[in-house]
Amino acid sequence: MFATDPEVREKLLKAGSIAKEARERGIELSEPGSVIYDVVEEVESLIARRGGRPAFPVNIGLNSVAAHYTPPYGDRERFPASGLLKFDVGVEVDGYVADTAASKSLGGAMHELVDASRSALESALPLVRPGASLAMIGTTIENVIRGGGYRPISNLMGHSIERHNLHAGFSIYNVARSDDSTTIPSEIVIAVEPFATDGGGYVVSGKLGNIFSFSRERKLEDPSLQEFQSIIMERYNRLPFAERWLADVRDWRKKINKLLRLGVLHGYEMLIEGKGGSVSQWEHTLIVSREGVVRTTA
Ligand code: MN
Ligand code: MN
Repeated sequence: MFATDPEVREKLLKAGSIAKEARERGIELSEPGSVIYDVVEEVESLIARRGGRPAFPVNIGLNSVAAHYTPPYGDRERFPASGLLKFDVGVEVDGYVADTAASKSLGGAMHELVDASRSALESALPLVRPGASLAMIGTTIENVIRGGGYRPISNLMGHSIERHNLHAGFSIYNVARSDDSTTIPSEIVIAVEPFATDGGGYVVSGKLGNIFSFSRERKLEDPSLQEFQSIIMERYNRLPFAERWLADVRDWRKKINKLLRLGVLHGYEMLIEGKGGSVSQWEHTLIVSREGVVRTTA
């Protein structure tokens, strides 16, 4: 199917190699004192220069924020002197998506937690192939993270990816689930992403993190709102976008809020570690087919 079509494969690989470069550049630029907004914009513009588009806004997760935060428009907040950063970046080429993340200890005190999820990913990836047991992969991830003295986050998962669809319905658990006999199908693109924490091992929803996606088209009375809806559909399809990406449109903030209330847009709530623990994450995207498994973002 799609992953074995040579043209599709080429686009997936291109998205992956741009995402890898973007992740590495982001981790390099993210230093105590640098302005978060500037780093995010620099990385997103790098993606465009390489011929891709962000598949979602760069997610900056500091400490207990596990996911779903990107700086609001014009924000001048700086990276703190110490803490744990997750840098999660996605690239699309013609709708074909790569999703990858890395963690960094700012100020140098959190290396062990950073390494716990990295080791879990490194141990899990060789197990991935068509027919591989999800229970085995989850158990491996959980054991490696617990072996390092931490907990896996049980309610965050890896996922299948389809064209224009970042979370396509198939989940890859980060914990042991011995009762689950699901296996990985062939001809699928998946992201594997273990999260480790020194907290409770689960996330809860927080405030909106300035990230939205198109949810449901509606016929809108107000022509300028109707036009805004069309702009969003044209630019981002169903993929998540940042409010700051719409700042070129007149009254964008007001219009976003209106479309949120009407249910046209979905707003992503930040995912926060349940007990306030710090969280680390590493992620790669893989093409899984009978001909082999390719890590597009490695
Ligand atoms: Mn992902
Ligand atoms: Mn990701």
